[in-house]
Formats: sequence, structure tokens, C-alpha cells
Amino acid sequence: MCGVFGVYNSKTPAEDAFYGLYSLQHRGQEAAGVVVAGYDEKKKKTVYRQHKGMGLVSEVYKDPEIFKKMPGYAAIGHNRYSTTGASKSASNIQPFSLTYRSGNLAIAHNGNLTNSRALRKELTERGVIFQASSDTEIIPHLAALSKEKEPLHQIYHALRQVQGAFSLVILANDQLIAARDPYGVRPLALGKKTNPETKEATYYVASETCAFDILSVDYLRDIEPGEILLIDKFSAKNHKPSSLFLPPSKRKARCIFEYVYFARPDSLVFNHSVDKVRRNLGKSLARESMVEHPNDDQHQIVVSVPDSSNTAALGFVRESNKISRPARFEHGLIRNHYVGRTFIQPGKESREIKVRSKYNIIRGVLQDRQIVVIDDSIVRGTTAKMLIKLIREAGPKEIHLHISSPPITNPCFYGMDFPTKGQLLTYMFADAKDNDEEIENIRKYIGVDSLKYLSLQGMLNSAPRFEHETHSYCTACFTGDYPIRMTDATTDKEEYDSGE
Ligand code: AMP
Repeated sequence: MCGVFGVYNSKTPAEDAFYGLYSLQHRGQEAAGVVVAGYDEKKKKTVYRQHKGMGLVSEVYKDPEIFKKMPGYAAIGHNRYSTTGASKSASNIQPFSLTYRSGNLAIAHNGNLTNSRALRKELTERGVIFQASSDTEIIPHLAALSKEKEPLHQIYHALRQVQGAFSLVILANDQLIAARDPYGVRPLALGKKTNPETKEATYYVASETCAFDILSVDYLRDIEPGEILLIDKFSAKNHKPSSLFLPPSKRKARCIFEYVYFARPDSLVFNHSVDKVRRNLGKSLARESMVEHPNDDQHQIVVSVPDSSNTAALGFVRESNKISRPARFEHGLIRNHYVGRTFIQPGKESREIKVRSKYNIIRGVLQDRQIVVIDDSIVRGTTAKMLIKLIREAGPKEIHLHISSPPITNPCFYGMDFPTKGQLLTYMFADAKDNDEEIENIRKYIGVDSLKYLSLQGMLNSAPRFEHETHSYCTACFTGDYPIRMTDATTDKEEYDSGE
């Protein structure tokens, strides 16, 4: 997964990109990069300057001198999140920038292309030299090979050829282009700030609106699925940015996992509050648990796994109390915020120690109580198993684990950083005779008194509806129903060097 950011007509584009990426840090902690477009007085033309590095945004840009070396009026930035081996190489850090016959181009991508192998092979045979192993690099090469003259049309031409998930920010000479695939898999928002004196407009593009809030930018709208939006010097003078549209897809496929886990709750994603949707997920979970234990009226202590399931836990408690099943929210687990997301640790052993260093228990809250633990998802199961072991050390009466999404059964090929099918917890129990047996086996493995997952319908009912759409979301990781054709029929992330 990744976070992308773009700004146009700013006096401090590098700093803006820094703050934007800083807010989007949760979308990728492996590497960060910024490319700035600035006017070079000596050369009398726009030049691109960049600074990229491995690590957190605050580490990559810790030296203030970096910003002085990147003056300009526009910038794009990227946060990278990946566990694939090749991604560790510095050559894969985005944005990618290149010089070609029409000038300069720089690109940052959130998502995964699903026909990148075929395209890469074709391009390599035509003599194209790739510098990185990421799928993203295909797009500027396709644009450079296009017969079109204008960068916008070259990009359009390139995007007609790629399949998969893409939310893109692109610098093309002195223009900023933002584009989203026709399925709308990954989010991309548009923001604007007007200078009160000059009345000039500064435009911003970001994966999530929390990147606008830090810069006091107003959210205007989403980049629409299939939209390619051009922001240039005329937009800065308050002419509305113009758009081209890719041919529409038969359905939409917004990633529902953005709401379940990935996005920050203070963001708007797909034009809706993540906080609200996540609360709904918790509420639906409470209603479904109620149906399953209609006579259970014991007081429950609800503990969330901080921070990603705090919001769902609040919804759960609220709804539980409404449907007369007394519940109280408590902080029973404390998170050490200086430890990164558990997911990025390679190898199982180190992930286990990471879980222990990330969470600790408050014994007094948990001891002798009936505890309901709310978590947003179970992927490999390492976090849940370790956490339950920890909570048991406090001596609770019972532990009930409630998950605010259905079981994850399939990998993601559209940019969510899930492991291969074989590494998913559900795979371990895939030979169960039915769903109930599978859940029972998982329950025993994790070591809880009961285990409840939110149903697929419960999850879909918790998410916003979009008018005139029969399918609005991608639920492939829960259902195996992949909405976007995969020309490179790879179902294994290890084989698929996605670059995202
Ligand atoms: P595990 O089951 O140990 O693999 O990890 C599950 C935990 O990681 C859940 O509690 C989520 O909060 C979090 N998580 C879920 N999906 C992802 C993801 N794609 N990347 C990083 N963390 C995730």
C-alpha cells in the first residue's frame, strides 16, 4: 500500500509534500520521496529536483537543508508500503522521474497493475530499459512511446493500456495530473486553498483528506473513478481544472478494506467519513452478535486493539447498549506508539516479539472480567494469537474475540499488502467441512472462548451506498471475487513483483 500527494501553485511545495506525506505515514512506512517542479532562471525552464530515501517521512526529511534545495511551485510525493523483497531496493522508491522527448515526467502510484508483466515484456522487447522492478514504471514508458503530443493525452493513451488499480499523481513539465482507475479501487481526493490577497488557487491531491487538514486545505471532491484531471497555470488563476475520462468500467470496485482497517478515521475516503463507516461496522457486529446470543445479558467489558479498532469498538459498545446488552468500553490494551505497524516485520519470530513490544495489558481492567476484544481483521493470525496470550496473563473470566470484518481468505492484487494465500490464517483451516467448523478451528487456534466475524452482508450494509451502482466495492480478499481482470494470471504475491 502507499500514500500519494500532489500540490500545484505553492510557494513551499516541498514542505507541503512533507506535511502531506507525514499525515499519510500510516499508508506506507518503508520509504518516502518527493519530486518538486521549479523554474530555473538560468536555464529558463522548469526543472525537477527530488529527494527520496528509505524509512519514515520524518527520517527521510530530517535535515531542513533538503527543503532549501528543492524550491519550486509544484510537487508530488509518495509513501511506500511493501513487504516484497525487491521493494527493499532504493531503485523502487517513488516518485519515478524521467526526461523524454516532451520534457520531464514524474509519477507516484498507489495501487497495483494487473497486466504489468505482459506490458513489461512487450516494452522490453521494444527496447525499453527499466530501472526498477515496480509496475508503476510502465506508465511513463507507455506515455513516452505514445504518438500524442500533449503529456495529458500521452498519459491518457498509457492509461488506456494498463489494467488494475491506480491512483496517480503525475508531474508533466509544468502541469500536475491526477488520475484514478475506472473501478475507483484506491482513494484520491482533490483539495484547494485560495490566497486571500492574490485570490490565486493552490490545488492539492491526496490519498486521504487527513493530508489536507494538516495544511488547512479545503476538500473539494474526489477524483472520480476513470478521471484524469489536469491542473495547470490556468487553474491557479481560478479556471476550473479540466478532465478527461477513461472508458467507464461495468462496475465500481472501491476497496472496502480502506474502511475496515487502512485509512485514518479522521479522513474522508470515497467522499465519506471513515470514522462513521468504522463505527457502523462495530454497530453491525454488535447486532449480529446479539442475534447469536439472544439470552446473554452479562455485562461486557469491551476492549479494542488500539488504534485501528478503537472506532469500531465505540460503535460496538453504543449499539450493544442500545439493544439492551450492557457493555462498557475500557482501555485494557496499551499500545507503544514508537513501534511501527506489526505487519512490516519479516519472519514470524520477529513479528511475535514486535506484537509484545507494541502492546501491553492493564491487569486491573481485565482480571476476573468477561472481556470482548474487538479487532478489525485477522490476516496471518499472529497479532490475535499473541494478544490473547497476553490478555490471558491478566486472568480474565472469559475472552470473546469479535472481528469487524469477515474472514480474509484471498490475497489482494490491487495494492493492499496482504501475504500469499498460504500465509493467511484461514488457509490453515481451509479443509474444514463447513464455515462453522472453520471458525471453530480458528477459535481454538487463537485460544478464545468465542470468536465472531462480521458477515459479508453486515460489512457491506455498514458502508456508504452510491447511487445507480449495483456493485460499489471490491471484497475480493473476503470472497475471492476479483472484479478486475488479471491478464497475468498470478494468484501469488511472491511471484508477482507488484512494486506496491
Ligand atoms: P495478523 O493477523 O497478525 O497478520 O495481523 C492482523 C492485524 O494487522 C490486524 O489487527 C490489523 O489491525 C492489521 N492489518 C490488517 N491488514 C493489514 C495490512 N494490509 N497491513 C498491515 N496491517 C494490517
